[in-house]
Amino acid sequence: MARRITVVGGGASGLMAAVMAARGGAEVTVLEHKDRVGKKLLMTGNGRCNLTNVSGFEGKYFSSDEASMQKIYGALGRFDADDAMDFFRSIGVFTKEKRDGGIYPVSEQASCVLDAFRSECARLGVRTVVNADVRDMRAVKCDRLILATGGKAAPSTGSDGSGYVLAKRLGHNIITPLPALVQLRCEGDFFKSVAGVRAQAGITLYIDGKKTAYEEGELQLTDYGISGIPVFQFSRLAARALHERKKCEAEVNFMTQVSEKDLGGLPAGRYDGKKVEELLGGMVHKKIASLICRRHKLDARMTVFDAGREKVKAYIDELKHFKVRITSANSFGNAQVCSGGVPLGEVSDCFRSLKAPNVYIVGELLDCDGICGGYNLQWAWTTGAIAGRDAANDND
Ligand SMILES: Cc1cc2nc3c(=O)[nH]c(=O)nc-3n(C[C@H](O)[C@H](O)[C@H](O)COP(=O)(O)OP(=O)(O)OC[C@H]3O[C@@H](n4cnc5c(N)ncnc54)[C@H](O)[C@@H]3O)c2cc1C
Repeated sequence: MARRITVVGGGASGLMAAVMAARGGAEVTVLEHKDRVGKKLLMTGNGRCNLTNVSGFEGKYFSSDEASMQKIYGALGRFDADDAMDFFRSIGVFTKEKRDGGIYPVSEQASCVLDAFRSECARLGVRTVVNADVRDMRAVKCDRLILATGGKAAPSTGSDGSGYVLAKRLGHNIITPLPALVQLRCEGDFFKSVAGVRAQAGITLYIDGKKTAYEEGELQLTDYGISGIPVFQFSRLAARALHERKKCEAEVNFMTQVSEKDLGGLPAGRYDGKKVEELLGGMVHKKIASLICRRHKLDARMTVFDAGREKVKAYIDELKHFKVRITSANSFGNAQVCSGGVPLGEVSDCFRSLKAPNVYIVGELLDCDGICGGYNLQWAWTTGAIAGRDAANDND
């Protein structure tokens, strides 16, 4: 008789687990509490679905300790980006590299990925039950259960945190889930005046005064703080530090694209007749230039000569070291993923629970999160594939 496997959660990791288990000969049922599977998948990569990344995994993932990191990289080595792309080809999704190693479907449509999963599930006879909200696993009758409920990020797509409750009932600990890949709220009433500005910048994260991370890219200023890919990349560090009541600051360098050589004309007096705001506006967004002038109570008509070249040089330096205090991370509703979850020390290398041997735990529910660029979906594919195969074939 075929082994009966139930997958709780029809998201990225659950669909992958279902297909792999069914390919392994199991009779598979997916229980999904939304009215359709894969809602979050449709939102990924702004609807384009950044499936994975071929620029290497080292340094792209986070977890709570070194042993967990080793487990993460061990698993990613057993089902890597090439394996993911092979898999997608096998279900008819052809892929291409866009930038920085990011892999997308050639069609650049997340819906084609979901459609391919659905038709592969149908081909393999996977039963999908929607509107099936699992709150008590004892009610689910099967030989193996794969818990693939996701975490708490973007809860409107179905990942409402119920997976943590289910895992806890099995005896698992939960490392406090916190939003990651999310905007950061900052102190300062000036933000309203610069909201909407997008600027190429370098951003350093300081935690308790210690330089902790550096990212470069397009910074987005909002009416409450900072956003954009470089902010997302270190937001998990900031969110966790704030949770631990540490002091968090971001130092923005707005001048990464202006060299000291470019500034050589200033001491030589070349810009003496120019208004300060105009000169700064030639280097950074006008709204940022105005902000600096307002901060120093400069008369809008004041020239570089009148303000003093040294002072203007100091304003330019301020643009290189623009420090803001981070007060909080935005909520799970705005986050792309969450950090924390079931400790990796509580599952086997095949993501089998060490507390409840007939249960596997996969995807974002585990204590692993990646940076932007396809790494989080890769984690879903990796854990889903390894657990799905193992659940169909383990010998106990
Ligand atoms: C806007 C956005 C864009 C993103 N873009 C990218 C990207 O381009 N590339 C990338 O790598 N990552 C991206 N991510 C992250 C990625 O989508 C997630 O890391 C990934 O979907 C996690 O997979 P999962 O299977 O663990 O959880 P999910 O995909 O969240 O799936 C969990 C499923 O379980 C169901 N469920 C939950 N609880 C229960 C229950 N009790 N009973 C029954 N069903 C339940 C949910 O309804 C859901 O369908 C993005 C995330 C967001 C929010």
